[in-house]
Amino acid sequence: MPSETQVLVLGGGPGGYAAAFAAADLGLAVTLVDDAPNPGGVCLYRGCIPSKTLLHVARLLREAEEAREIGIAFGKPRIDLGKLRDHKQDVVQKLTGGLGQLARQRKITYVQGRGRFIDAHTLAVRKADGSEADVPFGNAIIATGSLPRSLDVLTGFEDLVWDSTAALELREVPKRLLVVGGGYIGVELASVYLALGSEVTLVEVTPGLLPGADPDLVRPLLQRLRGGARLLFETSVVALERQGDGLLATLRGKDGKEESFSCDRLLASVGRAPQTAGIGLEAIGLRPDRQGFLPVDAQRRTRLGHIYAIGDIAGQPMLAHKASYEGRIAAEAIAGLPSAYDPRAIPAVVFTDPEIAWTGLSEQEATAQGIEVQVGRFPWAASGRAASMGRADGLTKIIAERATGRVIGVGISGPGAGELIAEGTLAIEMGAVAEDVARTIHPHPTLSETIMEAAEGVLGHATHYYGR
Ligand code: NAD
Repeated sequence: MPSETQVLVLGGGPGGYAAAFAAADLGLAVTLVDDAPNPGGVCLYRGCIPSKTLLHVARLLREAEEAREIGIAFGKPRIDLGKLRDHKQDVVQKLTGGLGQLARQRKITYVQGRGRFIDAHTLAVRKADGSEADVPFGNAIIATGSLPRSLDVLTGFEDLVWDSTAALELREVPKRLLVVGGGYIGVELASVYLALGSEVTLVEVTPGLLPGADPDLVRPLLQRLRGGARLLFETSVVALERQGDGLLATLRGKDGKEESFSCDRLLASVGRAPQTAGIGLEAIGLRPDRQGFLPVDAQRRTRLGHIYAIGDIAGQPMLAHKASYEGRIAAEAIAGLPSAYDPRAIPAVVFTDPEIAWTGLSEQEATAQGIEVQVGRFPWAASGRAASMGRADGLTKIIAERATGRVIGVGISGPGAGELIAEGTLAIEMGAVAEDVARTIHPHPTLSETIMEAAEGVLGHATHYYGR
């Protein structure tokens, strides 16, 4: 244990490890505390990476099935759940092991244990063997992330109710799965279990999936999911009881209509809450705001000038890449650099099939803010590349400010949307106008052309799409 660390980072997820690595690269002495054997956090151990590994499998299964339509028929897939689980674990182990090595190469002191502030310059760490050690620090970055939210109605049924962590363990493929919540986690994991053979019913309390996304981007996913799953909107679970080895849920829909529904497992995906309890915030006089976030300034400094907060505990959106970005800002601020958190666009990606990605302002946000916009929509039915892949259901749209032509938002729905969206984010960050994007030569035939053509659409003349 170092006598005093210049930068103590509490939490080793994409926020915490990015902060620790950046601080070490800036020449600071860094201690990183997390209770896992290696850095990685929720994202690598039980979030982004395992879910994307399983979503890749879901896509393989679906593509093999759909190949029938173009004359290629495979037999019914045999799924070896044990092997699939091992594969997922291998991916996680390789990546987290790699992060451990990167931490050692940077001479970061990694302490495995649970940390709790005991005063404004000391963190007490309880290690797995029960021993405790104090880490004195000059500056601290809190990056403790978030935990799944639950619902009161689910209490007492924990053995049959999954959160995302349990669902990603892949213990079994339930015959009937009830998914509660149609946000990121709900639609991604519903897609995984649908592909693995579960009968999936999804209930969502709002009128549609993915409440933050523009409805025209969500529509292709909605159509595909409807092909296999039952989707109930403006509906929630109001009561639960045991029925044999499973559950009998009472669902209440629009106008109070109730329905009984039997399922073998229930997945709760109703959001996540910042993890600020149990880390000794009271001992240092920090208190979360009403939404549970720690208030921070542009350098991610809390009210205490030497303690910073980043990632899911520092505000929306709760996304790994936003946390990593904040981590680097906080490390640079500690090193005395004039850095500030001031993004114009943060991309969001839902890794379903089709993928849905958006960045900057959505069309509904722009409208709500009273910005007069011009929207260029390019349906993938007009893209040669999409046609060759049999994916005419996609859509790319560019939202430009009418007065200036400046690109303020980009949205994409289709395979690879998560990869394509980066160009939109760069365009917004660089202050590009629609014409900049339209006059950038894009390779043919690729899906990236849909971005160029959507920008042409803003200008009123897309080559492959004739719109009035
Ligand atoms: P979310 O906020 O995305 O979605 C929760 C959904 O549950 C909402 O649509 C909400 O209306 C609904 N809901 C709430 N209470 C309900 C109820 N009683 N009955 C029915 N529906 C109800 O949250 P999530 O999907 O749990 O994901 C948590 C966080 O994890 C998100 O903030 C997201 O940023 C992050 N995440 C990101 C990705 C990604 O980037 N691809 C993937 C997974 C999770």
